[in-house]
This record gives sequence, structure tokens and C-alpha cells, in this order.
Amino acid sequence: MLCLALALFFGWSQPAAQLDGQAYDWMFSSQSRPGQNPSSVLLAIDEASLIEMGGARRLRETLGRVLPRICAAKPLALAVDLMLSTTDDPDADTALAKALSQCPSVVLGADILRDASGWEEPIALFRRSAAALGHVHAEPDPVSRQIALEKAIGPKRYWALALEAYRLSKQAGPILESPQDLEVGLLLVPAARATARSLYIRYLAQPVPQLSLRDIDKNPDRALEFSGKAVFVGYTDQSAARDRLMTPMGKLMTGVEIHANLYETLQSGNFLIDASPALAFGLTLAAVAASGAIFFFLSGATAWVSAAAWLLLLHLLPRWLFANQIVLGPSLLLSGAWLATIVSASFHYFVIRRQWQRSEADKSRYQQAIHFVTHEMKTPLSAIQGSSELLSRYKLNEEKQKQFAQMIHSESKRLASMIQTFLNVERLAEGEMELKQDLFALSAVLLASLDRARLLAERKEIDLQVGPITPGQLRGDKELLEYALYNLLNNAVKYSPERTQVDCQCEAFGNEVRISIRDQGMGMDAQDLKRIFDRFYRSKRAEESGISGTGIGLSIVNEIVKQHRGRIEVSSEVGSGSVFTVVLPLASPASLDSVEGNANSRSTAAG
Ligand code: ADP
Repeated sequence: MLCLALALFFGWSQPAAQLDGQAYDWMFSSQSRPGQNPSSVLLAIDEASLIEMGGARRLRETLGRVLPRICAAKPLALAVDLMLSTTDDPDADTALAKALSQCPSVVLGADILRDASGWEEPIALFRRSAAALGHVHAEPDPVSRQIALEKAIGPKRYWALALEAYRLSKQAGPILESPQDLEVGLLLVPAARATARSLYIRYLAQPVPQLSLRDIDKNPDRALEFSGKAVFVGYTDQSAARDRLMTPMGKLMTGVEIHANLYETLQSGNFLIDASPALAFGLTLAAVAASGAIFFFLSGATAWVSAAAWLLLLHLLPRWLFANQIVLGPSLLLSGAWLATIVSASFHYFVIRRQWQRSEADKSRYQQAIHFVTHEMKTPLSAIQGSSELLSRYKLNEEKQKQFAQMIHSESKRLASMIQTFLNVERLAEGEMELKQDLFALSAVLLASLDRARLLAERKEIDLQVGPITPGQLRGDKELLEYALYNLLNNAVKYSPERTQVDCQCEAFGNEVRISIRDQGMGMDAQDLKRIFDRFYRSKRAEESGISGTGIGLSIVNEIVKQHRGRIEVSSEVGSGSVFTVVLPLASPASLDSVEGNANSRSTAAG
């Protein structure tokens, strides 16, 4: 809709009108071919004639001598594009009036006064000899593409000189008018009242034939060339330069020749008409809708190729319409189509593509989650499988049976809790679950996670040191926090070489506690530090070390700490080790419990 509105805004602007004009000229020039035999001839008052007759002052006298010869050749009409509005030499005027009265179907020119206050008309002497008066007005704009067949100043109006000449040449009665057309004899001219009866001129591809006044004066026999034609009399010399107008073919043409071309247009009956506003709007609407639909329904290369083909088709449409006598300014249609294409292509590119990328990311997240579940579940499941198989296959003594049963029990519990943790964190992150709000001692979670991590530390002979544990309580989900701290301890051990040290320290700052886990492991570079909390991210170093992992642990830890309104700080140096610090708000810093009190000074050594 916005594209359509913008296109309408542009389509009705001045630059668009200029573009449409240029497009018209191009279509006109590229389609005009020499066709019909001209039915008009110019009687040109050229330079040579003026010199010969001794200047424009002797024009009426010369015309009075030449016109009877021309009229004797029986032309169809005589259209005089000269201003005969003043009296001159009485003898010459009388001779010219006489000559005119001997001619059939004479149309004399009338022009609008310079100040547009009225008409400049021939004097009565000449008017008496004329069958009609016609206006000789031709508007530049700046190219003379159309001519108003009707011109009115006040109550007085005249039809165009060429139209009157045509009417008289067809011996037709008065011109009949309807709001849309003019009827001249059998001819219906599509010139609407709303446009001042403007009609596009079908300029002939070749110039209208012309004979000069001098030619006829010297060679009276040539007057026969006017036989059966409409004769247009007018100046063609350099003084008529002011009267010359630009045509769509890019040539300057005198007013009299333009009127002769209008006569030819009427004679051919081949009229160009403007596309109706409804057609222009309808086509633009269809162009905009289709351009949008292409990117809505199609995607990838098909959409781009279809859009290009559609635009090409729309560029050819005005030309095709022109060939079928309909003039459609292309600016409205094409600006609408281009705008809609650009907008929908950008939308397609940015929005749809982003959606596609998001769905791809979701897909890969899902695949990785599956990978995680299977990977992490494999160890406890194998233990359960192995133990249950041994129990069912062999007759074991009671102690062994008990040992395997315990193993099955503890591994299945571990599995269940792991799945639960994973699902809980997912739900918490999605806002589908509320965080528990239990109160528990910091020492309880920390010691529990240390106990769990100790197993691996011992295997690698890593010295797991714990400083004094800050007395105080935390609020939240104990199991989740235990999982988070255990994960950090486990990573510290996992990514450290054997026989190194992992240090766990607590520090209280106001209402916060800082739990730092320091190792002497492989460390991470700045790039890794930016991404380690991303799901499934593993540093290149970790991958290459052969240490197994899924890259999901830290993202879960981060989510758990975030849910407890805490934060994680990390500093690390490649080859020297890393420090992960969990900062959590304390629920009640003062309270202590006696059990954890003993553990504050406890340190765990490996081995
Ligand atoms: P996992 O350990 O299963 O790969 P984590 O999410 O726990 O996944 O850790 C993400 C990545 O962060 C690890 O793969 C590793 O590259 C890096 N990392 C985490 N903790 C440490 C550490 N203490 N020392 C060095 N690298 C670590």
C-alpha cells in the first residue's frame, strides 16, 4: 500500500510528467514509419519567395495573383495560417479577397491575442470570402505532442484550423460534440471536453510536401500539384523561427506544418488516446501486487528471476499499449513496480532470510541437544546395562549382588537428576518454570559439589584446596546451584594436567559472596572467553586435547547463576590456568549452621 501511495505521489509529480513526455517521444519516434500518402501540401512563404516579391508588404498582392491558379487546380480546402487582421494596400486587399472568394472551402486563421484578452481575427473583407475561421494556436509544452482542437476566449471559441479544413474538405456539416468525442462527418475524433479537446498529432515520418509561392509564380503549371489536396498557406522562412516548435521526433517545425500534420492525423483516423486513470491505476495496483507476491510465494533464484522477468514485461507494456493506440505514461506503473520489488526483495532478503537462519539455528541446537543427551547419558546407561546384565546372567554372591544393585541405583539416580537439571534449566530460561526459593547454607552446596568433584580430582592426583567457606545462606534451588558449582570444579579438574592444584576460595563483599575456582590448566584465549557461555561452544584447545565434552555445561551454569541473580567472572591465560568466579547474593549473611561450621577450615587434598 505504501509503495502504491509513493508511486502515486511520484507519478503525479512534475519530474514524472517530464519522464512520461520523454518516453512518449521515444515511443513515437521508434514506431513512426513512412506510411500514408500525404493529403496536404504546404504553400510555403519561404525566403526566396519573400525576396522575389520584394518583402512581406507585397504578400497580399502576390497571393492575390497566385491563389487563383492554385484554386483552379481544385484543392479540397485552403487553410490560410496568416494574420489578415489589418487593412493594407486597398487594391491588394481587394485582389486577395477576390482570389479567396474564388477558392472552395477557405479557412482563415484566427489567433489568441498576446494578453489572452480576445481573438485576433481577419478583417471583414476577408472573412466574407472564408467558409470558416480556425485557430492557429499550437502549444509547445515544451514539445508539441498534442493540439487543442477547441480554443475559447470568453464566449468566443474556434476549432483548430486543420479541423475546419478537414471538415470542409469532407463537405461535412457542423461539428457535433459529446463530452468524450467530436463527430466530423463520418469521423469520430476521441477528443474529450475535459482536455480542451486535445488530440495527439500523428506526425508524418516524412515532411509534408511543399511548394513555395515563388515556384507557383514562376511555374503556374505546378499549381496542379495542389489538386485534390488540402492546401496550408503559411510562413516557412527564418522570420517564422519564433513560430517553430519542437516535435516528438526532435525536429523544429513551423506552426503551419504542425497544422498540416494535424490534418493528416484526422485524415488517417489513427488516433492515440490517453489511458484512462482507472486503467493506469489498475495496472499499477496489479504491478505492485504481483511484485510483492513474487517474493511472498517464491524464494531463492526463482523469485529473483521472476521479479526480473516481471519488471521487463512491465517495461514493455507501455510500448505495447502505444502500438495499440493507448498512451500510458510509464512513470506511475514503473515507479510502483520498482518500489514494490525493492521493498519486497529487501523484506525477503532480510526478514525471511533471518527467519530461515533462525530456524536453521534451532535445528542445529536441537541436533546438538540430542547429541548432548545421548553423549552424557551413555556413561551411566552403560554402567546400568553392564551391572544388570551381570546380575541376570551369573549367580553372584550376596555382597556382589548388593554392590551391582547399588551401582544401578546410583547411576539411574544420576541419570534422572542430569535429565531433570537439563530440563529445568531449559524451562527456567524459557520462563516456563519458577525458580525454587529455598533457603540453604552456602557451605552445604559448596561441600556437596566439592565431594562430587573429588572423585575425578583424585583420579588425576589433583590437589583440590578449599579455603574458609563464608558463613551465610543462599536463596534458590539448591540442586541447581550444586550442579553449577560442581560443573565449574569438574571443568577445572578436567582441563588441568595431572598433579596440579585446583583452589576454591570464598569471599564475602557486603551482601554478596564470591566463590572463585582457580586451576593451573590449559587456559583460554580472549576469543574463547567471549564464547564459552554459548551453547555447545568448545575451545579449539579443548577439542584438540582429546578431553571429552559437549560445550553445554557452562551455558547451563550461566543460566543457573543468572536465575539466582548472580554473575560469573572469568579470567584466563593460555598455558597458565583459569579463574571462574561466581558472584551470588547472600540471603542472610549472619546465620550459620553447625554442620557446615566445621567444614569451613576443611581442605581436600588429592591422592
Ligand atoms: P565441555 O566441558 O563439555 O566442553 P563446558 O560448557 O563446560 O563444556 O565448557 C565449554 C568450554 O569452555 C570447554 O569446552 C572448554 O573449551 C572451555 N573451558 C571451560 N572451563 C575451562 C577451564 N577451567 N579451563 C580451560 N577451558 C575451560
